Amino acid sequence: MKSMTDVKCVQTYVSRMAYCWKNYNNRQIGTVKERVYLLELAVREVHNLCGVPITSFGVLGGEDDGSFNRSLWMMKLNHSKINDSMPLDNFMELAKTLYHEARHAEQHWLVACMVLAVVKRMNSEGYSQERLRLIKSLSALPKHIIERASNVGNSFNPSAELYQKIKDWYNSMYVNRFNYDSAIQGIGTNPFADDAETKVLLHRKAYEAYRFSAHEADAFDIEILVYNGLKALLFPDNRDLIIF
Ligand SMILES: [Zn+2]
Repeated sequence: MKSMTDVKCVQTYVSRMAYCWKNYNNRQIGTVKERVYLLELAVREVHNLCGVPITSFGVLGGEDDGSFNRSLWMMKLNHSKINDSMPLDNFMELAKTLYHEARHAEQHWLVACMVLAVVKRMNSEGYSQERLRLIKSLSALPKHIIERASNVGNSFNPSAELYQKIKDWYNSMYVNRFNYDSAIQGIGTNPFADDAETKVLLHRKAYEAYRFSAHEADAFDIEILVYNGLKALLFPDNRDLIIF
């Protein structure tokens, strides 16, 4: 069973990104639409390789490079950043963010497959309450994703290591989900956080709770593989420094 941490997937994605940079962005060739199309194609290729249902794509506003929305099964890319004056550093940031967000799609997909495989095993043994509770935990996902995950059946056979990861993601995404945005809002209205030092401390704690939750820590880890791979292709002089 392939997943997005596999070297082949990372390398495929990295080589598509390097192609896009060298032939389009760096030479200021092609429209934003054409460049976006290539970036989206690379994500689709990786998802196909890993058996993840492909996402739709939309346009993201604001400051972030990209996002993934599980309810819409949609990734968004910030088109305004993909202009002719985009420096290589920013392109590399965008490429790794895109892979990070695509990994979130894979995490949600694998969690759905695991939950539905467990539910199927329970079918013959009762546990109707437990079954309903598990199915309900996936209710934020679109129907077609749940249907497809329930059809995966016996071909869902992750390694023991991956299975443990999927269980940890289930907990951090569905059971003990940390809401970073509301934590930050809470600091603003917290009457006991009335000095700058306390505010900074609470912001740091909130960031750490978000950054090191199981699914986020995993997505940040995977970003580094993309970054190092791109560095090796686009800065060949640094090749010796790369730890892949
Ligand atoms: Zn994330």
